[in-house]
Amino acid sequence: MKKDGDKIIFENAADLPDMAKSMGTTRFNKTGTWRNERPIVDTDKCTGCGICWKYCPDMSILEDENGKAAIDYEFCKGCAICVEVCPVKAISMVEEEK
Ligand code: SF4
Ligand code: SF4
Repeated sequence: MKKDGDKIIFENAADLPDMAKSMGTTRFNKTGTWRNERPIVDTDKCTGCGICWKYCPDMSILEDENGKAAIDYEFCKGCAICVEVCPVKAISMVEEEK
């Protein structure tokens, strides 16, 4: 980072403050705190088809060690799209803990 008169010039991404980096990505914003309800996966029902992964707008569907869906609660916003698209109804929403 250097100053040029009134301007501050960031020469590479590492110079940017976290706030500026977060404008283009949610990597620095733990959006999971926005949830009122959380999705729960019934791994006995889940077939590992990946449809919920395709539809999740927050890339919050992970794969567990058995190839079943798992939720990244640091970023899941609780929109429940995964519940709607799961063909075997393996995901349900429960009220978020306080
Ligand atoms: S509730 Fe929404 S954000 Fe969370 S895992 Fe399901 S689709 Fe993704
Ligand atoms: S859509 Fe349903 S069955 Fe398919 S991976 Fe997701 S939770 Fe499992």
